[in-house]
Amino acid sequence: MHDFRSDTVTKPTSAMRKAMAEAEVGDDVFGEDPTVNKLQEVCAWRLRKEAGLFFPTGTMANQVAVKCWTEAGDEILLERRSHILNYELAAFAVVSGVMARAVEGERGIIRAAALAREFRPKTYLFSSPTLICLEDTTNMTGGTCYPQAVLKEIRALATEQGVPIHLDGARLWNAAVAQKVEPFEIAQHADSVMVSLSKGLAAPAGSVLCGPADLIDKARKWRKLLGGGMRQSGVLAAAGLVGLQEMVARLAEDHDRAKALASGLAGTKFRCEMPETNILIVDVRESGKSSDQVVALLGKSGIRVVQADPVRIRMVTHCDVKEDAVADALEAFRSLRA
Ligand SMILES: *Cc1c(COP(=O)(O)O)cnc(C)c1O
Repeated sequence: MHDFRSDTVTKPTSAMRKAMAEAEVGDDVFGEDPTVNKLQEVCAWRLRKEAGLFFPTGTMANQVAVKCWTEAGDEILLERRSHILNYELAAFAVVSGVMARAVEGERGIIRAAALAREFRPKTYLFSSPTLICLEDTTNMTGGTCYPQAVLKEIRALATEQGVPIHLDGARLWNAAVAQKVEPFEIAQHADSVMVSLSKGLAAPAGSVLCGPADLIDKARKWRKLLGGGMRQSGVLAAAGLVGLQEMVARLAEDHDRAKALASGLAGTKFRCEMPETNILIVDVRESGKSSDQVVALLGKSGIRVVQADPVRIRMVTHCDVKEDAVADALEAFRSLRA
């Protein structure tokens, strides 16, 4: 069995298990967990932000960021297929009372011009956007990365309009590795950034929100209000620190495997773009099957994937998907064609 459903299925490595067992801990609600404090500092430094805050999930970190940057009745701008809009249960409406305006990107990448159209004259007649949310890499649009030039354009627009940018960087590490840049070179264009430890880095749980110190102070209050104030969470942070040390550079391997999958599918009835990172969105229309049929059939051959929409499936490579998984997956697709 090979599990391509998500990079969240990765299990903590033995180095992580050891670090977790030996982690120095304290009560983090009192700010006394040295391992959590270290993780927050390391993330803030890697992203060159003033401060960081450890969250149990990326969803909570994203939603707290939206809460801290907005007032009820504001609008937030994000991509139509983004995680915050589609996979966080409209939490922004519940937690922050804001309305989301979806902007269409190209393979998930929004251009400044498309965002600019959403800003209307600042009068009392209109609600207006007070936050731009970007996702890098994009998830459901195939692990694409924002080119630096596009981030610069969006930064210029945000500055001109006086609104902050929140970056959902659940897979920012993948973007940095694929683009051969340091994470801060991407993060510098955003005011706040969420990064995940529980995806390709293989930690069991946790995300870190980084940004200005005053924002992070505010975020600490909202994290507690939402029930995210954890106690000896250094046990989790220890795994995250190992992930940052040992699991980032190797993401290149995942990207190579995703490319190998795409190359193997070229010329078949399963269509996909060459991936930039570890996510493959495969259009199954030409096969004459629906995506749920393909999910079920591949599953019978021991290849687990998920449905992205009625005509597409998603495959994600990660450290627990080994070399033979690519060949086995391609073989399973071949048997589907027959
Ligand atoms: C997984 C993911 C999240 C949320 O992370 P959880 O820890 O699962 O809540 C947010 N954004 C993107 C793009 C993701 O892929």
